[in-house]
Amino acid sequence: MNLNSKSSIKFYSGEEIPVELHKVRIVQKLHLRPIDERLAAIREGGFNTFLLSTKDVFLDMLTDSGTNAMSDNQLASMHHADDAYAGSQSFYRMESAIKEVFGKSLVLPVHQGRAAENIVAKAFVKPGDVVPMNYHFTTTKAHIDLNGGEIAEIFTDQALIVKSNNPFKGNLDIEKLKALIAKYGKERIPFIRLEASTNLIGGQPFSIANMREVRKVADQHGIIIVLDASLIGENAWFIKQREAEFANSSIKEILQTMCGICDIVYFSSRKVSSTRGGGICTNNKELFLKMRDLVPLYEGFLTYGGMSVREVEAMAVGLIETTDETVISQSPGFIDYTVKELDKLGIPVIMPGGALGVHIDAMQFLPHIPQTEYPAGALAAAFYIVSGCRGMERGTVSSVRDENGNDILSDMELLRLAFPRRVFTLSQTKFVIDRMHWLYKNRDLIGGLKFVDEPKVLRFFVGRLDAVSDWPEKLVAKYKADFGDSL
Ligand SMILES: *Cc1c(COP(=O)(O)O)cnc(C)c1O
Repeated sequence: MNLNSKSSIKFYSGEEIPVELHKVRIVQKLHLRPIDERLAAIREGGFNTFLLSTKDVFLDMLTDSGTNAMSDNQLASMHHADDAYAGSQSFYRMESAIKEVFGKSLVLPVHQGRAAENIVAKAFVKPGDVVPMNYHFTTTKAHIDLNGGEIAEIFTDQALIVKSNNPFKGNLDIEKLKALIAKYGKERIPFIRLEASTNLIGGQPFSIANMREVRKVADQHGIIIVLDASLIGENAWFIKQREAEFANSSIKEILQTMCGICDIVYFSSRKVSSTRGGGICTNNKELFLKMRDLVPLYEGFLTYGGMSVREVEAMAVGLIETTDETVISQSPGFIDYTVKELDKLGIPVIMPGGALGVHIDAMQFLPHIPQTEYPAGALAAAFYIVSGCRGMERGTVSSVRDENGNDILSDMELLRLAFPRRVFTLSQTKFVIDRMHWLYKNRDLIGGLKFVDEPKVLRFFVGRLDAVSDWPEKLVAKYKADFGDSL
């Protein structure tokens, strides 16, 4: 098999390694602070990794949003961007790239993914509506709620199982979809939303077979399908790897097939295309016109949509590069490698590996910490202390309180370590695995957290917490004893 269609290469020793199929031509210096300084930094940041300054962060694994590496061709393209309020050539190049990659010719530019969600929700969702989806994303749900609708998550029973060998945990449950339509009627369902590589449940893909089933049900009732394509490159890669019918298809064919099944496609190009910005596309003139007039109102004129034309140029190049297997396989390849290594060490991690990051199950990692003391938040803070790497809490800290002031406990307590596309090397990845291994062996030393300053809305962004005991100092003391130095 050609290396281009694999994400790893076999060494003479038998080891399978995700070799980088790119070279580094622009670099940024990183800082690995001594552990005492890391402890001081996380205290200063209220045990919340969002509040760390990057000068104190070694590997920034907070998110893959706007943090991916751009290619030489993308950077070069930014120099011939066409600055014009209306009719910019940069927009026409973006439009033509979208047609080539997603097969849709009516294009609306927007400043980022959530802006596309605002337009789609404003155009189609009305009070009392229900939007079925395989899983929600935070900003998607917010926009549907704001327009008076609600979401209905109809993922399969497999979706939330941590350790699984199900290749398509992102599939939508067809029986639940039929039941939902029978219950609400098509009048209350403005569209069915499919999210490629479901972000919040471990970057898990759906299959084209599942999409076709969804299409069949949608057609029976005359309901449209909207695809969130922010993580579509990886979903297409997983389809090629895991769905037999497409083993010999090109990524471009798979992308066109996926988008061809859906009526409207929108995306955050902070993820797909490794730039910043976003877009909405369709081949349906009537749907297009329902959305078009909202773009100048909320985003900007129809040929820039709130984006810098330099980003528009780089997006056009980046979208074409999404059809290159060596580009889109890098992040899933490194994630797959990391997940398998962590699993071998007995560390509870979401399997199979998905898109965007590695997700560690904090409830199994820290069974001694009750959910009311935020095990995923504690794990994120502890991992920063012992490695200088910052991940993101995706658990009860990211949830809210009920009317009595009690935490609404989240379904899963996850620490997400994002792998921005083509940013980290294998030795950095091995460092992450090694420090996680040490932390797992010393997990009994980790204690819980409590809020000391808690905003009412989206508390996870700027809320401040503290350790419930002196566990961080004990963790640091053990680390120094084991490593004999402070890095
Ligand atoms: C990131 C993301 C969004 C929102 O995009 P932004 O550019 O951050 O506004 C929407 N949907 C999914 C699936 C995402 O991953």
